[in-house]
Amino acid sequence: GVFRVTNFAAGPSAIPLEVLEVAQNEFLNYKDSGMSVLELSHRSELFESILSEAETNLRGTLNIPDNYKVLFMQGGGTGEFAACYLNMMASDVIFNKQQSAPGGKQLKCAYFITGIWSKKAYEECSKIGGSPHAIVDAKKYYNGAGYFGLPPREEWDMPKPEETAFVYYCDNETIGGVEMEVDSIVPHIDPSIPIVCDMSSNILSRKFDVSKFGIIYAGAQKNIGPSGLTIVIIRDDLLSRNAPNNTSYIPSVLDYKYFVDQGPMPNTPPTFAIYMCGLVLKHINRIGGLSTLENNRNAKAKLIYDVLDAFPNCYNNPIDKRYRSKMNIVFTMKDKSLEQKLLKLATENHFVEIKGHRSVGGFRISVYNSITVEQALKFSELLVSFAKENSQ
Ligand code: PMP
Repeated sequence: GVFRVTNFAAGPSAIPLEVLEVAQNEFLNYKDSGMSVLELSHRSELFESILSEAETNLRGTLNIPDNYKVLFMQGGGTGEFAACYLNMMASDVIFNKQQSAPGGKQLKCAYFITGIWSKKAYEECSKIGGSPHAIVDAKKYYNGAGYFGLPPREEWDMPKPEETAFVYYCDNETIGGVEMEVDSIVPHIDPSIPIVCDMSSNILSRKFDVSKFGIIYAGAQKNIGPSGLTIVIIRDDLLSRNAPNNTSYIPSVLDYKYFVDQGPMPNTPPTFAIYMCGLVLKHINRIGGLSTLENNRNAKAKLIYDVLDAFPNCYNNPIDKRYRSKMNIVFTMKDKSLEQKLLKLATENHFVEIKGHRSVGGFRISVYNSITVEQALKFSELLVSFAKENSQ
């Protein structure tokens, strides 16, 4: 077969070989059109059905209720840091027009800062004119890459529901390796407040109840497909928030309501990325949907964390066990001088992209959906033999 490595990259990341092969087979002549998907007009019937099938499959897999819209946007997670704020506040307030208009009261944007990505979202809100409020941001839970867990509820500084525009959190901090437990935040937020959630690095890895959220967004390049596509899932009553008088001042490419009103494609979307994501979603259906992915996720994470825990003289994972990410497993070596040696051994065995984020160092093993249990097992065996040889 063709040469393939085990790619533990944090995103863009591995895509199932079966999916790449389908794309390869269809690459030059998609469905007898005589064209590649790369060359198809986004207004063609063929592309329209690629998009609508992708949406249908995403809705099915995540069990998205009918009162939620699915948007295929661009700009990545970083675009959404700005978009969620802009869309959830009244335009006339943000841009200081018609201050007396309905919705003219400045409400609080309340953020859980639990790592580098939620911190960036908080800072972006501030940068573009908001005054974000931090619900948690305690230095004592900080390990350099972000939190090593979620501070306890007594320490949360929650604003009053009637004064809050939205509560924002990141479900999985990709750099810090901290993932929220299913019930750690959502049930503790007043149900009148919409929750905005960044699921860039753990969407499609476990079951969750979409109806508990106001906005969910995710860049596609980790658990769904290639980069270039950002998926937004939004409860439809929130679409009128930004322009209560039907006058929006926000850029169209970030305007959720514009995507719904002129949708599903108000401008040229990332067509090939959408096609690839559609193939991945079909593949997910074939292998048994979210329950298969969730079982695999649990098995892979257990394999690797068990080794880290079994060799504390060699490896160190600094995360509170309740919040250990099952997607991005971070660790450092007790003996820093062994880092290069492990890196070399891994590379020789075709395990690549295991270095931690450039801002924090150490190691990060991203075991997204496309990594198989078998690959995680093989890597855990490598960690075992390395520890036995080097740390006794
Ligand atoms: N949020 C999370 C959780 C991420 O992991 C990332 C990217 N690694 C981002 C946001 C930023 O996404 P993008 O690079 O697509 O702007």
